[in-house]
Amino acid sequence: MSIKIGGAERFSLVDFPNHVAAVLFLQGCPWRCPFCYNTHLQSADSQQLLDEEAFFEFLEKRKGKLDAVVFSGGEPLLQSGLENAMQKAKDLGYTIGMHTGGFDAERFAKVLPLVDWVGFDVKAPFDEKHYQKATGSQTPLNNILDSLDLLIKSGKGFETRTTCDPRLLSIKDIYTIAEQLKARGVENYHLQKYRPIPSDKVSTETMCDNFFQDKNLIEYLKNTFKIFDIRN
Ligand code: SF4
Repeated sequence: MSIKIGGAERFSLVDFPNHVAAVLFLQGCPWRCPFCYNTHLQSADSQQLLDEEAFFEFLEKRKGKLDAVVFSGGEPLLQSGLENAMQKAKDLGYTIGMHTGGFDAERFAKVLPLVDWVGFDVKAPFDEKHYQKATGSQTPLNNILDSLDLLIKSGKGFETRTTCDPRLLSIKDIYTIAEQLKARGVENYHLQKYRPIPSDKVSTETMCDNFFQDKNLIEYLKNTFKIFDIRN
């Protein structure tokens, strides 16, 4: 079983905290988030840009210079070959990171033992309608919550993060997300700034900045989570 690779970053200091990582962007995503910066990765049918074998040859050569491989997307949980590819990277001595929205809890449970750290995207407050709007899809919310709970129980390192798209989220929604995460035992949360994509003719920089200018919100998040920061 192989993976379909839509692109790669061969050197990253920002995709896995405290690690020098190579990042694989796996092709295909079941979701259509209106704020997506990687629309070229959404279709599972697009042409593979990078051969898996070539990437693993690169990893073989970079042993000792890179210490981690991050499986990102698209949505890595869409790939039937994910477990196999993670095992191959682990066998080469790499630490394994993953970025996911948790769309497939069953596959997530299979790969989690191989993963050392997860960046878990929280798209909206955990209610079915809001999540469907934010992901542009019908994925059952239970599946996503099952993934998150698996992750929390696993004891693996992870962070949760939300992209603050003013078309989809209000400041009140961020409070709701924070309360829901805290109630599940999450201690590590980050807000990511949304920069309007070209098709977005509605949002302004000021609207995007509103989340971060709200001192009460930021103070609340700092007091609620052990680790919190804003990513511009
Ligand atoms: S989950 Fe990520 S890759 Fe998929 S549509 Fe949303 S932002 Fe884009």
